[in-house]
Amino acid sequence: MQQIKRLPTKDGQLGWFESVSFQRPMPVQQAKKNENFDIIIVGAGFTGLATAGRLAELRPEARIALIDAMEVGQGASGRNAGFIIDLPHNLDPTEPDVEANTKVRDLNGFAIQRLKRIQEQQGFDVCWHEAGKYLAAHEEKHLSGLTDFVNTLEAIGEPYEILNDDALAERLGTHYYKRAVYTPGNILVNPAALAISVASALPSNVTLLENTAVHEIDLANKVIQTEKARLSADIIVLATNAFTEKFGVSPNRVTPIFTYASLTRPLNDSEMKAFQGISPWGLTSAHPAGTTVRLTSDKRIFIRNTLNYQPALSSTEASLDKAKMKHRQSYLARFPQVPDVPFEYTWGGMICVTMNHEPVFKEHAPNVYVIAAMNGVGVAKGTYLGNYMAEYICGKQSPELDFILEHSAPSWIPPDPLRSVGAHIRLSYEEHMARGEV
Ligand SMILES: Cc1cc2nc3c(=O)[nH]c(=O)nc-3n(C[C@H](O)[C@H](O)[C@H](O)COP(=O)(O)OP(=O)(O)OC[C@H]3O[C@@H](n4cnc5c(N)ncnc54)[C@H](O)[C@@H]3O)c2cc1C
Repeated sequence: MQQIKRLPTKDGQLGWFESVSFQRPMPVQQAKKNENFDIIIVGAGFTGLATAGRLAELRPEARIALIDAMEVGQGASGRNAGFIIDLPHNLDPTEPDVEANTKVRDLNGFAIQRLKRIQEQQGFDVCWHEAGKYLAAHEEKHLSGLTDFVNTLEAIGEPYEILNDDALAERLGTHYYKRAVYTPGNILVNPAALAISVASALPSNVTLLENTAVHEIDLANKVIQTEKARLSADIIVLATNAFTEKFGVSPNRVTPIFTYASLTRPLNDSEMKAFQGISPWGLTSAHPAGTTVRLTSDKRIFIRNTLNYQPALSSTEASLDKAKMKHRQSYLARFPQVPDVPFEYTWGGMICVTMNHEPVFKEHAPNVYVIAAMNGVGVAKGTYLGNYMAEYICGKQSPELDFILEHSAPSWIPPDPLRSVGAHIRLSYEEHMARGEV
């Protein structure tokens, strides 16, 4: 048995989870007795949820367990900024690969449709908002990032709108940005609410076991030890994102990067006058280390920035406090007209990245499958990779699956301590270069 040395923890207070507006329809169930399943999936983020959902459709007779150390919505899938991004995100601007970018756009579109169908069926308010997305720059020197993005949009025939200064301020309620490229296909959600809604739609042959950390695993015999139970299966799928290395698979391929978010209390009527006539919006930065901002449909302001490498896979109070201070500076720079709205929640979460932006998607050993490293766009990507992982396991072939298999070879990353040093230098450099975009 391999001992899992790092387990997921709750870093800070997760605003999305706390502000879910509906009551969870199913009870939280833990693994309490030894049991055998046909398939066990570890990790109930968007990736594990999609894998379980599609496997249950393809193998309705199979007994499937989906296990998570926390409650659904408390992992990175509920901690993110809530953008379901429709377009390719990690672009090579110099030479847009039209075929690959078109495929990624289509796969993202497939994921959005799947999530949309589920949330409509379930009928919970997940704050689903077809708001599009602004990619924005504050500083002159970052305008080139927008041009690169536009080149890719032109190459794949996607619609967009360019907004400058006052015209942009009219849409956002802030004069902070010089220019933005608006694309209409992005969806904004409360991600914790969406994850709970997706979990509530799982068919009855899926047993969801939450607050059930895997403490030990034997991949050869497909046995899992939790605090109270020993579970076994014919097939094991790891959808454990940043924790995947701890399971003894895919060493030196993935790097967990911590980032942090804050959510204000809802703005009152007088504060909302600063946003009169403005619809909820979401904005990402022209620089990868810049700040993500949202005006949510429940009238809160969301701020995300700060990147650091935490090999312990959990954050510290000091890091959370530091990030919160930075969030306040970013907030005041953008919204000086409503300076006194406090943050109600601040939390941290992990983005699992690879050097070449390709995910892990493979059969690691006979009947042991791994999906990890969504490179910061896991709501859509985790949903489509999970879906196609289920099809891969069931031997269902398709051009989409072929494309995914061809593009899932993450390159090598040096082990610690070299990784720590490299990550620290790179992240400090990126944050320095991003400056005004933070
Ligand atoms: C602040 C922030 C903002 C982001 N913004 C966006 C965004 O706007 N849009 C977007 O698409 N992506 C965004 N991301 C990235 C996105 O959250 C991830 O790509 C996505 O959550 C990956 O989903 P996943 O299911 O693969 O992994 P996860 O959601 O991390 O799920 C893995 C699960 O495995 C479980 N697990 C791990 N170890 C064990 C164990 N030993 N036993 C049992 N369970 C275990 C964990 O508890 C976890 O729930 C953001 C991330 C962060 C942190």
